[in-house]
Amino acid sequence: MATTHHTLIIVGGGPAGLTAGLYAARARMDHLLVEKGAEGGQVLLTDWIDNYPGFPEGISGFELAEKMTAQAKRFELNSLFGNVVSMDLSSPIKRLELESGDSLSCDALIITTGARPRGLGVPGEKELTGKGVSYCATCDAPFYRNLHVAVIGGGNTAVQEAAHLTKFADKVTLIHRRDELRATKIVQEKAFANTKIDFIWDTNVTAIEGKDGVEQLRLLNTNGEESTLQVEGIFILIGVMPNNEMLPLTDLAADQGGFIPTDCETRTAVPGVMAAGDIRSKEVRQVINAAGEGATAVLAAENYLTNLS
Ligand SMILES: Cc1cc2nc3c(=O)[nH]c(=O)nc-3n(C[C@H](O)[C@H](O)[C@H](O)COP(=O)(O)OP(=O)(O)OC[C@H]3O[C@@H](n4cnc5c(N)ncnc54)[C@H](O)[C@@H]3O)c2cc1C
Repeated sequence: MATTHHTLIIVGGGPAGLTAGLYAARARMDHLLVEKGAEGGQVLLTDWIDNYPGFPEGISGFELAEKMTAQAKRFELNSLFGNVVSMDLSSPIKRLELESGDSLSCDALIITTGARPRGLGVPGEKELTGKGVSYCATCDAPFYRNLHVAVIGGGNTAVQEAAHLTKFADKVTLIHRRDELRATKIVQEKAFANTKIDFIWDTNVTAIEGKDGVEQLRLLNTNGEESTLQVEGIFILIGVMPNNEMLPLTDLAADQGGFIPTDCETRTAVPGVMAAGDIRSKEVRQVINAAGEGATAVLAAENYLTNLS
């Protein structure tokens, strides 16, 4: 099986990877971007993006992904369709294995493999994603003006986002599987004081129902009691999972959640390896930061390569 060497390899073609690709291609670096699916990443799961600058009317996720890809290709982005299944970062030449059996090697590596929202795994969730099921209140809250929505979760993100949603929704019902929240006390106090938020405790969602959009949730209390709740939207905020299965997590000093810590230049614990976008250990996961970090990562790679020679 063939091994191909490049000065810089970028793994992942979401907003972080595509921006890194744009910067690397435009800087005429010898580079390769490896993506296992469609270029665009999670942006392709997003119906509409209202908060990416430069598009005053908003833009569909699909179109933004297309535009980012086209912009990088205008500078001759070199990309490969491939699934990276493992990496060896123990020597200055980094080695990557692809599912096809081919290998790649590089002097500098940018990891932009992103993340995926943790789902409930209940009937109706998949079918109604983008039609009332959302994993991002920051992104989708304005679509629920004057409506009733449910938030699932009990951590800081869920409780803070429930409060954020009250700026738009008429009513927010926070459903938590335990009898108390995990969010910090100050966040909880604000939520309890907010008259637009009510709480359903000790309860799991067992199904999400609706024809063309979310209409109701089926609920199961831990005491065995079943009920339904009529809502127009459900925000599932029970965390995100890193796409890290192919990464040497110990070498990269991954945090407890499996995300990769970096310094502010996106440099990881391994010299010559940068991480950008949702795979990074951080609080805010949005297209704008992913793109910004992708650009930073290429500049960090250029600095690393200059110091090598
Ligand atoms: C439903 C939803 C709505 C959202 N709405 C908004 C919004 O309105 N505004 C906003 O700013 N943000 C929004 N976000 C968040 C935003 O999409 C992410 O922050 C952003 O896409 C992160 O970009 P990324 O490049 O870091 O990762 P990703 O977009 O996750 O891209 C990672 C890429 O890496 C690829 N990859 C993973 N593993 C491998 C491998 N082993 N080999 C090769 N390729 C691999 C994946 O296929 C993927 O294409 C939303 C997210 C979701 C889920």
